[in-house]
Amino acid sequence: QENFTRRPTVSSHLMDSALPAVAGTDVRVPLADGSSVPYANFDYAASAPCLLAVKEALDLAVPLYASVHRGAGRLSQLTTRAYEDARQTVRRFAGARRDDAVIFTRNTTDSMNLLASCVPLDTTVVVFESEHHANLLSWLHRHFVVRLPMPASAEEAVSAAASALSPGSLLVVTAASNVTGELWPVEELAAAAHARGARIAVDAAQLAPHRPMKMSTVDYVAFSGHKLYAPFGAGVLIGRGDWLAAADPYLRGGGASKLVGPDTVVWADDPQERHEAGSPNVLGALAISAACSALEAAGWPSLVAAEERLLARLRLGLSMVPGLRELSLWGPESPRVGIVSFVVDGWEARALAQTLSDHYGVGVRDGKMCAHNLVRHLHGGSDGSIVRASIGLGTTRAHVDRLVTALADLTAARA
Ligand code: PLP
Repeated sequence: QENFTRRPTVSSHLMDSALPAVAGTDVRVPLADGSSVPYANFDYAASAPCLLAVKEALDLAVPLYASVHRGAGRLSQLTTRAYEDARQTVRRFAGARRDDAVIFTRNTTDSMNLLASCVPLDTTVVVFESEHHANLLSWLHRHFVVRLPMPASAEEAVSAAASALSPGSLLVVTAASNVTGELWPVEELAAAAHARGARIAVDAAQLAPHRPMKMSTVDYVAFSGHKLYAPFGAGVLIGRGDWLAAADPYLRGGGASKLVGPDTVVWADDPQERHEAGSPNVLGALAISAACSALEAAGWPSLVAAEERLLARLRLGLSMVPGLRELSLWGPESPRVGIVSFVVDGWEARALAQTLSDHYGVGVRDGKMCAHNLVRHLHGGSDGSIVRASIGLGTTRAHVDRLVTALADLTAARA
């Protein structure tokens, strides 16, 4: 086989043949009464199932892969080409500039920590208190961090960021909230940052599976393969090369070094080499690239339209469940991706999530979503947990209806 990254044939999706299909849509799960039902997965925001296109790409690659970069053998050369092609596919998918570094990492958390290790120590970092811990905690031990309170609107977010930023500082912000699904005004924030001579790093972990990225308007972007319909273990950091090329390698070892002597090490100049020490996760990179290609082939207008139909049905259904309160930072009208968090009167989140699983075969998430400050704020200041239902390419109307009916049953039973 000359090239194992060739586009595989993709089976069509149950609901809409224009959309890429996910694996595992026929999985059944047992219920407490001994019966079983098809699994209704509402936890895409944590980790999305693998696209069939991704699985097919991996099936092609697994029998063929060999070492990358330094192997002279035919398969090493093919694998190296596939790995570097994956980098270009991801670059295109993110809308990145030609000279941006595209570094494969383990996930978004790893990407943010890598970036934090490269940003000069005298840089002031500005973050909102609402951020996912990947964006908050990666900075606190190294940099001076200005923590902005939860903004009451998207406009307030822009004006608060603008007042806090100064030349040379860095704004770190989520593009779409993993708690409420709300879209942050990234373009406006980027314009405000750049107008003040600052930079902006965007966590696109929740944006990447749902909306196109406009990387060209920001300085850095990070996302995870496992939220983008690829398996675990690979993520991406994309961005301006200068700080990345000047910093010590994130990991020290082979690949990051270009010359090692008895007392000296010369690190690679190219940030992609410098920060990808050791043998890279080639299959992870190929998987992300296959996911990017499949989403691009489907086209964002169809992907967004299908998601918005299901999300509207879900939110309408939830709005009719007595005692259920949907949580949002900026109100019900603010634009969002397919993520809804809520609390239900009389139900503790864990008990509700467990009951949905045991009696209805519905998988939601409960907890504080690695964004404790935001969840506390949405929860009226208390440290309680919430329930999150997130949708994706394997979600059907029947799944949505099952979740809504289950919640209606459970609240009626407690009334
Ligand atoms: N940022 C956001 C907005 C997320 O939702 C997540 C995962 O939940 C992360 C960062 C961290 O992603 P990962 O666990 O893949 O590092």
